[in-house]
Amino acid sequence: MNDRPYAVFSCDLDTVDRHLQGYGIDDAPACDRIYRAAVPRLLELFAELGVPGVLFVIARDAHAERALWRDAAAAGHEIASHSLTHTQPFSTLDDERLHTELAESRARLSEASGVEVIGFRAPAWDVTERVLAMIADCGYRYDASVFPTPVLIASRLAAYRRSAHKGSIFSMDLVGHAFAPAAPHRLRSVRNGLIEFPISVTRWLRLPVYHTFSYFVPPWLFARGLRSALRSGRPLCYEFHAADLLDLAHDGVDHRLDRHPGMQVPLAAKRAALRDVLATIARERRIVTYRQAIEEGIAA
Ligand SMILES: [Zn+2]
Repeated sequence: MNDRPYAVFSCDLDTVDRHLQGYGIDDAPACDRIYRAAVPRLLELFAELGVPGVLFVIARDAHAERALWRDAAAAGHEIASHSLTHTQPFSTLDDERLHTELAESRARLSEASGVEVIGFRAPAWDVTERVLAMIADCGYRYDASVFPTPVLIASRLAAYRRSAHKGSIFSMDLVGHAFAPAAPHRLRSVRNGLIEFPISVTRWLRLPVYHTFSYFVPPWLFARGLRSALRSGRPLCYEFHAADLLDLAHDGVDHRLDRHPGMQVPLAAKRAALRDVLATIARERRIVTYRQAIEEGIAA
């Protein structure tokens, strides 16, 4: 049934130290726990469901973990860039640093995985017109950073109240993004015809159909959003994080990550919840990678 609308599963491989940096904790040492504990569980889950996925990798760790990327690519998964260092706020970097984050991460991940990287997702979805233009200039064929939901504005307001670095969190065009097209589309404002794959949202209220949201809302509300997205007939781009397969107590994770959504939930329950969502989507949709959607001409 190739005429079914497609869905893409993408997992951001944010390391524990980079998550902590997002909370203003700058002194955490580089941590490999997601590579040792979460990524094997992720690949196991994809294999069990018989689906491909897209792994957004922080290229700082491209070479050290190259065996993982080679194995994942050989199993049919796509490796894409989640920047070089996951520095935040991303869109306020000057041109030179931005170029390094984009070009260097693409080069390193292409080399490490053995497959040319064509996709990018910005740390904290923080892109502007300037960033999108540079993503295209650096040779990417798609971006997957736009999160077209007003909920992001609310969550940034909450983060702003908690943050020590006030003033930087609103660097991105949150209001513009909240009402951006919600289906995959070609960005006419950017040369080279960069394709944008937004994170999925529900049709009318634009609630996130995004895994982290499931930790904040009652299960019935999350399930309703998922059903609405599946019924919409739009391509479904479902995003989650490696931390969704990480156990705070048993994986040797820095305890300061306890503030992160889902880290109070035992691994078995988190694993079952993620498996349930992915299996529900896979029953109704053909699961492809972003690269496949572009190569098959069905992306936008
Ligand atoms: Zn990230």
